[in-house]
Amino acid sequence: MTKALFFSEDAHCELCPNNCQIKSGTFGACGVRGNKGGKGIIPFYGFITALALDPIEKKPLYHFKPGTKILSLGFAGCNLRCPFCQNWRISQNTEACDQSRGRWMKPQEIISAAKEAKSPSIAYTYSEPLVHAEYVIDCMKLARENEIANVLVTNGCINKKAAEQILDLTDAANVDLKCFNKDTYQKVLNGGVPGTNPLEAVKEFIKLCYKKNVHLEITTLIVPDLNDSSEELNAIADFIASINKGIPWHITAYHPDYRWNAPPTNPDFIRNTAKEAQKKLKNVHTGNI
Ligand code: SF4
Ligand code: SF4
Repeated sequence: MTKALFFSEDAHCELCPNNCQIKSGTFGACGVRGNKGGKGIIPFYGFITALALDPIEKKPLYHFKPGTKILSLGFAGCNLRCPFCQNWRISQNTEACDQSRGRWMKPQEIISAAKEAKSPSIAYTYSEPLVHAEYVIDCMKLARENEIANVLVTNGCINKKAAEQILDLTDAANVDLKCFNKDTYQKVLNGGVPGTNPLEAVKEFIKLCYKKNVHLEITTLIVPDLNDSSEELNAIADFIASINKGIPWHITAYHPDYRWNAPPTNPDFIRNTAKEAQKKLKNVHTGNI
């Protein structure tokens, strides 16, 4: 079995800010990374829950290889618990991701599939790729050797050491900046895991992407009464502008899913938010309306 990285001698997973202490015979909060007899295990290495050839704009990436297709692969599990997750069937219950929901693929098979589809890029997407760091790193190394670009579509909720390793192999990323409120990130989106600060981790990840010259676009799903105050949306635009005014910001509308039943975001609200943000940023895009 492939060795789990980022597993400390005292059985902490150090991959993401949840920093789970994992008892033998159990898994961390993502349901992906476990402990067996004191050793870190990653039994979902190579388990692919979705494989599709998408237009790159669907990621969404509007300023990286526009007009091309991208081989997109999804995994099982996620380190966050967004109650409106559109991919909850694969992200929120790894036990349900049995053989009927996916297939096992070696990294070399992913590269062969990309070549066969004549796809110039591979996207690690749908659920959360970062909790599968070992597999993503192995695929990314092979993709680089084959001159195929690596694209991460991610919640960006990862610690710096792992982020450094993955971003050194990443060509482009779309990172969710889900809100700009520490409590919302921790209590609503991270299921209340105590003592965590996902917002800070995501902000640091975004800054690191930029520092490492990874092509970067940012997405915010606007959920009514959760992250739609003008203060919060202005704070996100200000944060992006403080890094670079040219970084594209995708403002997308929420639709009811999983455990969140509030009515969808009003399309006019999305358009007005975009108009306001354009005063600060050069590339603002709307989506899902
Ligand atoms: S990736 Fe995060 S949620 Fe998963 S076991 Fe490691 S620290 Fe916990
Ligand atoms: S981070 Fe993405 S995949 Fe994970 S729960 Fe949230 S929306 Fe779903």
